[in-house]
Amino acid sequence: MEKKTLIATELPGPRARDFLEQNKRYRYPQGPFTFELVAERAEGAFIEDVDGNRFLDFMGGIAVLSTGSCHPGVVRAVENQLKRFIHVGPTLFFDAEIRLAEKIAQLAPGAHAKRVFFGNSGTESIEAAIKVARYKTRRSGIISFLGSFHGRTLGAVSVSASKVGHRKHMGPLLPDVHFAHYPYCYRCPFQREYGGCDLACVSYIREVIFQQIIAPDDVAAIIVEPIQGEGGYIVPPPEFLAALRALTEEFEILLIADEIQSGSGRTGKFFAIDHWQVEPDIICLAKGVASGLPIGIMVARDDVLTWEPGAHGTTFGGNPLSCVAALETIDILKNGLMDNAAQLGSWMLHELETIQDQYDSIGDVRGKGLMIGLEIVKGGSTKNPDPELRKNIIKKAYEKGLLLLECGASSIRICPPLVLDRDEAELGLSILKESIKEASALQTSST
Ligand code: PLP
Repeated sequence: MEKKTLIATELPGPRARDFLEQNKRYRYPQGPFTFELVAERAEGAFIEDVDGNRFLDFMGGIAVLSTGSCHPGVVRAVENQLKRFIHVGPTLFFDAEIRLAEKIAQLAPGAHAKRVFFGNSGTESIEAAIKVARYKTRRSGIISFLGSFHGRTLGAVSVSASKVGHRKHMGPLLPDVHFAHYPYCYRCPFQREYGGCDLACVSYIREVIFQQIIAPDDVAAIIVEPIQGEGGYIVPPPEFLAALRALTEEFEILLIADEIQSGSGRTGKFFAIDHWQVEPDIICLAKGVASGLPIGIMVARDDVLTWEPGAHGTTFGGNPLSCVAALETIDILKNGLMDNAAQLGSWMLHELETIQDQYDSIGDVRGKGLMIGLEIVKGGSTKNPDPELRKNIIKKAYEKGLLLLECGASSIRICPPLVLDRDEAELGLSILKESIKEASALQTSST
């Protein structure tokens, strides 16, 4: 596919409109989405719709397409496996599943031996983590963070607090879940400045939650996204995760790192938590680890994964196609793509900071590797979120052939395939810049 965007019809185009009508008629209405695209084919960092319009993909299927769309190595591995067997079920074993477990256990940070459980999705790996934590500790309490997103099944949604719509009318949810403040330094929940805050976000757990809400020896685990995803692509201050680790160790609480969005090389290291040299007890992976084939992986310390045989399981978990795709993906990531994410990501971050200097409405630019967020605000000094402007920027970008995604109250997330190259990054940023300019002008003329 050619490396440029091409918008040849009005959007959505005539064929896409027909599909979308059918979609509306027959499918549960997910969304709302800022734009609608009906895909025909995709390759690398580009996606073409059913009307032949070509888009540069800065969404990556929500941080899933780590090696890009249809990476030849992944396609080959899956094709080969398709001809051998598609499914053997959880009572039989096969090579790729065992090799993948070994690989993930070895990649997981820290010196402790690890073991792995395979499911089918992120939310399933979170369910597994919650069950492991309760099983191991015989405690029920879970502490999570405001703004976090861990999935949609009842356990995972119970520990999520990014949008009330995910929880509304779904209760009662899991009891004994308590929420702390994520270290969102741009909008510090404690109105402190980083540097002079003494990590109030961690002290709050010790001094408020443990004193007034739940005794620490009733807490099985603290679950944290090393970089908060859905909540706004928020990077914590450097000391936060180590301080959380120390707090959990003090009270023999397990630390669960949700790396479903931040892991699989996206930030330039295989796990985002590797940036802070912290060893969690349990890590959850999914999304990018198999380049788009469905898999959820929970990797836990050997002495933490104490389920007896049969305590947990699933029919499809560790599907052969997903396992070979994951093995291939990990090799590709290690052989250049993680480095690309680190280098191209830091170049893009720098470019975005330059764009930020020109627009008062870009309140914050943050990220690691190719996990980058832009916070759109009503004016630099007010910091008031501007979801309307964000929406208009994303819409303008779509009309010009760049796909972007929301996160948080008014942030834009940039999570392209990690095969993105410098030319594609430049193209994307120039479209983004134009879109910010046009959307801002639109806003000014309508006020
Ligand atoms: N955890 C995080 C951090 C996520 O970003 C997501 C999905 O966006 C999930 C969990 C849930 O994963 P899945 O949609 O595969 O169930």
